[in-house]
Amino acid sequence: MKIISSIKDMQLEAKKQMKRGNTIGFVPTMGFLHEGHTSLVKRAREEDDIVVMSVFVNPLQFGPNEDFDRYPRDIKRDEELAREAGVDILFYPHVREMYPEDRTTTLTVNKRVDTLCGESRPGHFDGVATVVLKLFQIVLPDRAYFGLKDAQQVAVIKGLVEDFNVPVEIVPCPIVREVDGLAKSSRNVYLTPSERTDASELSNSLVRAKEAIRSGETSASKIKRLVEEMLQQTVGEIDYVEVLSYPGLKPIEAIDEDIIVAVAVQFSAARLIDNVIVTRSEIPIGV
Ligand code: AMP
Repeated sequence: MKIISSIKDMQLEAKKQMKRGNTIGFVPTMGFLHEGHTSLVKRAREEDDIVVMSVFVNPLQFGPNEDFDRYPRDIKRDEELAREAGVDILFYPHVREMYPEDRTTTLTVNKRVDTLCGESRPGHFDGVATVVLKLFQIVLPDRAYFGLKDAQQVAVIKGLVEDFNVPVEIVPCPIVREVDGLAKSSRNVYLTPSERTDASELSNSLVRAKEAIRSGETSASKIKRLVEEMLQQTVGEIDYVEVLSYPGLKPIEAIDEDIIVAVAVQFSAARLIDNVIVTRSEIPIGV
């Protein structure tokens, strides 16, 4: 596995691979890798000749009172896990090179961000869109792999790629979970033991919501209430529970199209998110 830090070197390497006729699959991450990340690598390995992973904790997507400084980092461990997972090139850029002082343009995301994490974390998706577009220009991938754990991120990036005609196929991948259902996340290390036990209620509540919809419940507000009642049993504080269209992320009342049930819960030192997508085909006929 090659490790590259310089933007220029990464671009040269990407162009070299393109000239050889190799396709590039790209997995952008903020590091502190777990099976959620390596599942994306596995998928890329199946579909592309060369797999590039980036590890970059992007300061632009953290608000002033968020956990940028505390975000877990361990590049040596990440190198090992990336190598084992089958990454060919690990791109590990420096903040100063990614964001020189003087920038002429900035990106603002206008749609799909007035709800969920976009509402709770103002500016977050501007930072995500900026770094993803920059990384696409540096890594020049044919396909890029994103986890549906961050379903709003997938919706925003799909919009970005369409808006700017970026020649990259966005591949959304399923959420990888712990045995008790908790979605794997780098931030899970910050849960206290009792919070860790309670945290499985996020996925439990989403499983219940999906079951209820599949059994014929069509009221978005009833589904929202069901999930809220379950999450209120945890020690965490609910940030949001929403039932929205997907990927448009519009409020709905009747559940009769592809939808997402999404939650965010703040624990003492970690804010966790999770979601489930229910497609129209899973909703009983007649609804
Ligand atoms: P992060 O390092 O948290 O920015 O995540 C990098 C990529 O891994 C994003 O596309 C995430 O959606 C994805 N990811 C993170 N956790 C999971 C998970 N539990 N299952 C699937 N994908 C995940």
